[in-house]
Amino acid sequence: MSKYVSSNLGFPRIGREREWKKAIEAFWNGKINEGELHDRLSDIRRTHWRLQQEKGIELIPVGDFSYYDQVLDMTVMFGLVPERFEYKGGPVPLATYYAIARGNESAAASEMTKWFNTNYHYIVPELGGREPELTKNTPLEAYREAKSELGIEGKPVLLGLYTFLKLSKGTPSFSIEEWSRKLLPLYVQVLRELQEEGASWVQIDEPALVTSVSDEDLELVQEIYGAIAQEVPGLAVLLQTYFDSAERYEQIVSLPVKGIGLDFVHGKAGNLEALRQYGFPADKTLGIGLIDGRNIWRTDLPEAQVLLEAIAALIPGSSEYIIQPSCSLLHVPVSAQAENGLPSVLQESLAFAEEKLDEINALSIAAKTGDAPALFAKSKEALQRLAGDASRSRREVQEAVSTISVQPSERSSVFSSRRLKQQAKWNLPLLPTTTIGSFPQTAEVRAARQKWRKGEWSTEKYDEFVAAEIKKWIDIQEEIGLDVLVHGEFERTDMVEFFGEKLPGFAFTRGGWVQSYGTRCVKPPLIYGDVEFDRPMTVKETAFAQSLTSKPVKGMLTGPVTILNWSFVRSDISRETVAYQIALALRKEVEALEEAGITMIQVDEPALREGFPLKPKDRSAYLDWAVKAFKISTSTVRETTQIHTHMCYCEFHDMLDSIQALDADVISIETSRSHGELIRSFEENTYPLGIGLGVYDIHSPRVPSEEEMVAMISRALQVLDPELFWINPDCGLKTRGQEETVAALKNMASAAQRSRNSL
Ligand code: GLN
Ligand code: ZN
Repeated sequence: MSKYVSSNLGFPRIGREREWKKAIEAFWNGKINEGELHDRLSDIRRTHWRLQQEKGIELIPVGDFSYYDQVLDMTVMFGLVPERFEYKGGPVPLATYYAIARGNESAAASEMTKWFNTNYHYIVPELGGREPELTKNTPLEAYREAKSELGIEGKPVLLGLYTFLKLSKGTPSFSIEEWSRKLLPLYVQVLRELQEEGASWVQIDEPALVTSVSDEDLELVQEIYGAIAQEVPGLAVLLQTYFDSAERYEQIVSLPVKGIGLDFVHGKAGNLEALRQYGFPADKTLGIGLIDGRNIWRTDLPEAQVLLEAIAALIPGSSEYIIQPSCSLLHVPVSAQAENGLPSVLQESLAFAEEKLDEINALSIAAKTGDAPALFAKSKEALQRLAGDASRSRREVQEAVSTISVQPSERSSVFSSRRLKQQAKWNLPLLPTTTIGSFPQTAEVRAARQKWRKGEWSTEKYDEFVAAEIKKWIDIQEEIGLDVLVHGEFERTDMVEFFGEKLPGFAFTRGGWVQSYGTRCVKPPLIYGDVEFDRPMTVKETAFAQSLTSKPVKGMLTGPVTILNWSFVRSDISRETVAYQIALALRKEVEALEEAGITMIQVDEPALREGFPLKPKDRSAYLDWAVKAFKISTSTVRETTQIHTHMCYCEFHDMLDSIQALDADVISIETSRSHGELIRSFEENTYPLGIGLGVYDIHSPRVPSEEEMVAMISRALQVLDPELFWINPDCGLKTRGQEETVAALKNMASAAQRSRNSL
């Protein structure tokens, strides 16, 4: 008889009311002291343990909690504090911990980067001068706390050494093998102490095993897990993969560990295929990730049970299965209980972290007893109701999308001929200057929006306020002498929310927050129904701005792929189809702008890369449909209409072909923040369309000098055609103040003039 165990892989740390964020920020602002911070955070931690216990979870993760980020925790546990923070060894002070994450007066923060294909950002470990030492045993502390305070026999969670090393960077470079040898004894020490303390299961997270694993990587993994098995044989290690199917399945499942965790949601096809082909060792426990840890929808429990049985049937010899989410629940909001502002069909279809625990429990009860708990019928009903909702059968959209997905979406003429007509139309100078879209969202702008939202201001009054801001900034831009103007985006809080609020098919939660980085949380919109254009969204403000000036004003839209990648998306149809639906709605907006006389239109795609699949082999298919979605939005305009796009803060070098394939007349790309690295990519690949490389970083109030920008421009012009080159900042200016923005743009305009003169 097989045994089933319910488990969780990690719980969101922010708390139902974002108490975690509030406590840490209060500490940073000096409102509470360190002792109080510890008290408040341990309350949150214990509440979450208790909650998981009450929900019937048998293997409760401990050590997944953090004061900022779980990767930074491991860095600090090994004493790997970068030298600039002047740490002398021993326990790392909390002030140093936060300084690594956020910087201080004398040292810059460590780099922050996206955690695999999620919107969570971790602090990149820097391996360099310092030798590692064990400064404390973080998972052990958590294990002891749960046991002594709550009587919970927790399952310590650690980031795997292989993944930790893969995510690290060297100063200037490092050998992964050498560092593995340095860290392995310390890592083993952590595990040995856990074993001595009586821990049984330990979850070791190795998501890097789903990306690509070279022969050398595999050897390293074998070395690490071989050593662990030898040194701490009494520990039941669950090697956990997630976000996709495991690479090198056959070798990974033969590692000397007690259990292997696989993701049967995001890696379902690949993992099932591997199970069928290679089986699963009879002496090991399989952790079966059945509940989606990346999305907010209820699980179809009867269907999940069928999958569970199918998996169990594939490995008849196994005696133990762990029922668990696909990954840590860190990536979903805490509780759906407060979501009473949504249509009931939607509200009932949600499962945030707490509700997902109920689902795990229900599946495990069903597996153990053979009876289906009440939640089974409830989940089926809710999902059937959602599936039958009118929002999901917008015939016109569906038909239009199925037609468009098999047709090419191309401009009516090629760039070389469009370009001449566009030049004749606008007669812009060489090296035209422009900005990315937003101007300072000052406290005043935000306060005005608040007053309007609360009903203190009428819509009329708010519109007047926005109009006055637009006018002010059109005047400023004319005064500075920019060539292509923008209206400033004062009416928008967030570039996705603004459009989502106006498009049928989107909904917004009250408390659906997830941690993005540190204490910054985001509340992604839900895309639940067919997305459709309803009414013009940006024409009023843009046309008003254009009426104030004879210079061109760019219309400003957020692109379909960015809207998709920054939302929680329905899972009944493909992401590709949803992207095309959004793209068609945006096409109508583009056409409405054109109709209103706005014939330079920018469609921003800063998050194009965020949907990048983890496995290299899947990337070209994604890029193909992402590019297509952009072109669906932008290809029906007249040849004299100039399409712009914008991208920022990501790796561009391996997707220049796709960027070019967007066929945008002009792209503006962030370049200065990443120290001009992008320029090198153009040495080998010339870019044949209009392009503006950001000439200054917009993240600091510092006003860049004319000389700096002239230098940046001349570097760029060594590899790019001056006839196609534009001059703009790295990104939008919404986080800046007015004074510094005006000063920086003045310098930018004179830098452009000087560069023109020297052509
Ligand atoms: N148009 C947007 C702005 O200027 C673009 C923002 C972005 O790239 N994230 O704010
Ligand atoms: Zn940007």
